[in-house]
Amino acid sequence: MPDSLSTTSVPLPLLDRIRAIVGPKGVIEDASEMRRYTVEWRDIYVGRVPLVVRPASTEEVSAVMRLCYEAGVPVVPQGGNTGLVGGGVPHEGGNEILLSLDRMNRILAVDPVGYTMTVEAGCILKTIQQTAADHDRLFPLSLAAEGSCSIGGNLSTNAGGVQVLHYGNARNLVLGIEVVLPDGRIWNGLRALKKDNTGYDLKDLFVGAEGTLGIITRAVLKLWPKPKDVATSWLAVRDPAAAVEILSGAHAASEDNVTSCELMSRQGVEFVLAHLPGTSDPLAARHDWYLLLEWSSSRPRREGSASMAERMEAYLADCLERGLVLDAALAQNEAQAQAMWKLRESHSEGQKLEGPSIKHDISIPVARLAEFVGKGIAAMKQVVPDCRPVPFGHVGDGNLHFNCQSAPGQDKAAFFAQAEAISHAIYDLVTSFGGSISAEHGIGRLKIDELPLYRSEVELDTMRAIKRALDPKNLMNPGKVVRI
Ligand SMILES: Cc1cc2nc3c(=O)[nH]c(=O)nc-3n(C[C@H](O)[C@H](O)[C@H](O)COP(=O)(O)OP(=O)(O)OC[C@H]3O[C@@H](n4cnc5c(N)ncnc54)[C@H](O)[C@@H]3O)c2cc1C
Repeated sequence: MPDSLSTTSVPLPLLDRIRAIVGPKGVIEDASEMRRYTVEWRDIYVGRVPLVVRPASTEEVSAVMRLCYEAGVPVVPQGGNTGLVGGGVPHEGGNEILLSLDRMNRILAVDPVGYTMTVEAGCILKTIQQTAADHDRLFPLSLAAEGSCSIGGNLSTNAGGVQVLHYGNARNLVLGIEVVLPDGRIWNGLRALKKDNTGYDLKDLFVGAEGTLGIITRAVLKLWPKPKDVATSWLAVRDPAAAVEILSGAHAASEDNVTSCELMSRQGVEFVLAHLPGTSDPLAARHDWYLLLEWSSSRPRREGSASMAERMEAYLADCLERGLVLDAALAQNEAQAQAMWKLRESHSEGQKLEGPSIKHDISIPVARLAEFVGKGIAAMKQVVPDCRPVPFGHVGDGNLHFNCQSAPGQDKAAFFAQAEAISHAIYDLVTSFGGSISAEHGIGRLKIDELPLYRSEVELDTMRAIKRALDPKNLMNPGKVVRI
């Protein structure tokens, strides 16, 4: 008998009944095959389960959930396993079932007239984007993990990404969902309605719940017109204050068409250039701070009117004159734009390849972002003088990944021993700025002990009451987000 079965408290007859529901294709029991489900993206958590169950339909999810509920066995839902707070990874004890949605990956319907798409929860984000594009539509959720993350995971984390400032986060991109509750009942909220004030908004409760209240099985997504005129530029900027000023003026200069505005420091760019083959610096000289700016319009370029690129060029010339921009490269074609995006989107990968780092996914009011960056770097350096700060992210959302990279060659255990002190220094500062300790990645397991330090008793009590009401046995992804 494999180790995972001899040491688990999950009753073996229950496992037999689950196997019977989902069939041979619906279970993974081989230890090496299970690793891609049980190990977190940065290897911070390595969980253990007796089996990974992969239902093929809502009815199978429901049947598995009902059995687990009756037997008192906890269930961890998982999509693409790209989450960065350990929410989708099981605990080490081996007493939970991991329920992956990866076989429920179909696009069910596209309605280009009503601007909606209906999908199964395990659908990969990139597939959804591509399907929308094939219908001359846009699904605007966009993040570096889009080739492997799933829409169920995106909705469950209320994912953000690089276009939130124009389109909003995942919560704003969905009209309806279907959910299997912890006891196995199915709530069909798959409504394609823009207006629906019928009591409490259950959809918004499950979106962002990180799988602690139920399992999202299907969703009706909103679509937008496909952009027809896009301008992308890579800018060396004077400092973070200049970045905020550039964005502030860009809204009007672009006629409200700014879709992305991403800040990066030289340190982060250097990690990407060092570790990711095929990347190169678009500018000749080194600079301390960079901005990736993108403007998109769904209106095709018209004869006699300025294109997005022409408007952007004129605006950047003005910013150069004012000393906000130090140098600029405007993408001349799609390949150049993609190369610029690769530099930005490879930041997490570059940091991972460079060595251990401590991540802080924080947000603060946009107008105070520059002041925060200066104080935050000083706070980090006070705790670990030789650390390498790597702030980058979404200026328009006031959301920075305010990360701390270990000094070259530093011992991993010694570095992580300082994690709590570093994080508390940053989170205390964030709080003093009226900010949030989790902007887009969620709480998961990583921040479950931080949440009570930075949220009021009233908020926590309300969250616990919701969790108890929907999951009275505490079987739905326990030990994540909030303890009851
Ligand atoms: C390189 C990189 C870049 C990233 N960039 C961004 C970014 O810009 N913005 C951003 O927001 N995030 C980002 N992330 C984090 C991650 O991609 C997102 O959190 C994503 O939404 C997770 O999707 P997933 O399918 O991988 O979910 P998973 O990691 O599988 O799960 C995430 C959480 O959702 C729960 N869950 C998953 N599926 C379901 C379901 N069907 N029903 C109920 N609960 C479910 C899990 O239990 C877990 O708590 C990045 C990650 C990486 C690795």
